[in-house]
Amino acid sequence: MSKGLIISNISDLYQVKIEDEIVECKARGKLKKEDMSPVVGDIVEIEKMENENGKGVINSIYPRSMYSKRPKIANLTQMILVISLKSPKPDLLLLDKQLAYAEYLNINSIICINKIDLGKKETADEIHKIYEKIGYKVIDTNAKEKIGIQNLQKNLVGQITAFSGNSGVGKSTLINSIFGEMKTQEGIVSQRIKRGKNTTTNTTLYPIETGYIADTPGFSTFDITEIESKELALYYKEFKEYIKDCEYLDCNHIKEEKCGIKKALEDNKIDVERYSRYCKIFEELKDKEVHKW
Ligand code: GDP
Ligand code: ZN
Repeated sequence: MSKGLIISNISDLYQVKIEDEIVECKARGKLKKEDMSPVVGDIVEIEKMENENGKGVINSIYPRSMYSKRPKIANLTQMILVISLKSPKPDLLLLDKQLAYAEYLNINSIICINKIDLGKKETADEIHKIYEKIGYKVIDTNAKEKIGIQNLQKNLVGQITAFSGNSGVGKSTLINSIFGEMKTQEGIVSQRIKRGKNTTTNTTLYPIETGYIADTPGFSTFDITEIESKELALYYKEFKEYIKDCEYLDCNHIKEEKCGIKKALEDNKIDVERYSRYCKIFEELKDKEVHKW
């Protein structure tokens, strides 16, 4: 028996990385039920088959630190949420949704402002100010000229990281410049390049020197409807300490009187724009809940 990490899955075949070896595996019968089946990111116990070169069977799955259904992935530890300073302009509504979703999944988020060569420095500074105050790390990059890439890399150490953001913000360029700078396992870079960015349908983990990059199509078109509207505020890091001041336990922090969040807003403790995006996302979630029935 050996312990490995699933780095890709196409139909019923899994690529399991064990140290420097990659073993193609199938899952044992008992693991084939939907809610028990292995997914990319799983740490598994495998048994190599004799006679069959490089083939194995997955016997069991270790407990997951994190699990997401769509896209299917386990044990992701952080997300780099990419926005661009210009072309396209920063989509802070999407960013806030993604930040909330990452909190919901209980994983770390880092904000990356790419294309700093195209926009105004003041715009970037403003974004830094809002989000650093909350406690998020914000990194500036110009992926095209490989500026800020090393800083980004420092934050990938020991992590399984997914990149997320609108199409066109520069995710592929960023990932490729990270691969360009780091020594990666042979074949893996060319594999990614060959696959190209528009053919990504399966989640894959790419080993880099210091961790893994999760290439997944699913995190960009963010569907956060798994979060219930009444719980949304819990995933706003800077709201937490003020929620206890709300008069009503079921306060949504929208129209209620004696609301701790609205008080904090008046006292300039919470950013006005971020709060107004909260209201918007809340209404969106509420709307979907009503129409479900
Ligand atoms: P993705 O859709 O998020 O993967 O975005 P891409 O990586 O495909 O980038 C979209 C376009 O933006 C491409 O033409 C890139 O060359 C360009 N681009 C990416 N990063 C930068 C940057 O930092 N500065 C500038 N000026 N262009 C960039
Ligand atoms: Zn409230």
